[in-house]
Amino acid sequence: MSGAAALRLETAELPPQAEALRRELRAFVAEERAAGRLTDPTGFGMGFSPEMSRRIAERGWIAMTWPKQWGGHERSALERYVMMEELLAAAVPVGAHWVADRQSGPVILRFGNDRQRAEHLPAIARGERYFCIGMSEPSSGSDLASIRSRGDKVPGGWRLNGHKLWTTNAHRAHFMISLFRTTRGLDSKHAGLSQFIIPLNSAGVTVKPVISMAGEHDFNEVFFDDVFVEDDAMVGAEGNGWNQVSAELAYERSGPERWLSAFRLLAVVVEALGSDADREARQEVARLASHMLTLRRLSISVAAMLHAGLSPSVPAAMVKDLGTRLEQETVNRMRDLALKNGLTAPVLAELLQSGLLWSPAFTIRGGTGEILRGVIAKGMGLR
Ligand SMILES: Cc1cc2nc3c(=O)[nH]c(=O)nc-3n(C[C@H](O)[C@H](O)[C@H](O)COP(=O)(O)OP(=O)(O)OC[C@H]3O[C@@H](n4cnc5c(N)ncnc54)[C@H](O)[C@@H]3O)c2cc1C
Repeated sequence: MSGAAALRLETAELPPQAEALRRELRAFVAEERAAGRLTDPTGFGMGFSPEMSRRIAERGWIAMTWPKQWGGHERSALERYVMMEELLAAAVPVGAHWVADRQSGPVILRFGNDRQRAEHLPAIARGERYFCIGMSEPSSGSDLASIRSRGDKVPGGWRLNGHKLWTTNAHRAHFMISLFRTTRGLDSKHAGLSQFIIPLNSAGVTVKPVISMAGEHDFNEVFFDDVFVEDDAMVGAEGNGWNQVSAELAYERSGPERWLSAFRLLAVVVEALGSDADREARQEVARLASHMLTLRRLSISVAAMLHAGLSPSVPAAMVKDLGTRLEQETVNRMRDLALKNGLTAPVLAELLQSGLLWSPAFTIRGGTGEILRGVIAKGMGLR
């Protein structure tokens, strides 16, 4: 896909069954609140609750689009979209299973073999198995193809050595899908990369916390010292790692999590402003809401393209870049409105503080804004 074709998007509408599902999700959220299992969040993180992940799995809301053969529910990507919207907008703690459901499972489904599918997918679908993403390294973030962690062939498997950084939830996940250089000395740095599924309790794996600016332990650095994995730990063909991570990033970049983390703050401020908010406050909220609705349409169209088996990397990059900048703007504008209007709603101060400390990360994680705009320009044939 190149030039204007890279940007062509069919407008997708949510089907009636997606709206029926929305009612089920809202009823679930209301039940969880009534039972005291869901409290108002005071922070911007996704939360991590294995109990909640299992309850969500019991409803069939993990692995929604995967084949039944592998524990999935064979529903549409648009129904899955509604699930994400409702759980994120209600700030349900979904962080335990999120990465496995969003990208590790789909990578295994698309590039893995049947043994790997049987081993991992049903456990992910039950909300019992969590994954993390091992891409970035100390001097390889944006320039991911420059990674130095390496895999060397040994009888029966591979020996892995290296160092990953910023690995969200490596201290709580069971497995990592990680990128290693398995052939060195090739002309292209994009060649010779391969992905492995690594149990995080393997001998030689060390996970060390990295505390974020918000004072939270979400990401880590992970060291691999002569870690042995069997041949069957490799996902896809040897050397195909770059194609696989590129496909994976489209799942990571286009979803509603790219702007809905600030939604809760917007909702709290709107509630606190009440019906007698002044004209300026109304205009500000309306402007942000209209931007969110536009992004939502774009993101739904990308979900429809993924469902159709396409790889919409350019529109996905647009969703991520526009979404994360809007998210940062929402935090700043809500802070201004709260100060100007002397708002003092419960949890507002904590949410604002957490938002300010988290917001620099929005435009970094999953690919920085500069890199995404490069992807868009390239896709449009502009560079
Ligand atoms: C909250 C959070 C969670 C994360 N979770 C994970 C995870 O689970 N797994 C994982 O693998 N990684 C994770 N990351 C890492 C993230 O993907 C990287 O931080 C990101 O890709 C940027 O890499 P870097 O930090 O090395 O910055 P660098 O690549 O060093 O970039 C520094 C600056 O230079 C700019 N820059 C770099 N190259 C170019 C260029 N060619 N043109 C223009 N500007 C450029 C960048 O935009 C940026 O502003 C996470 C990051 C955050 C903040």
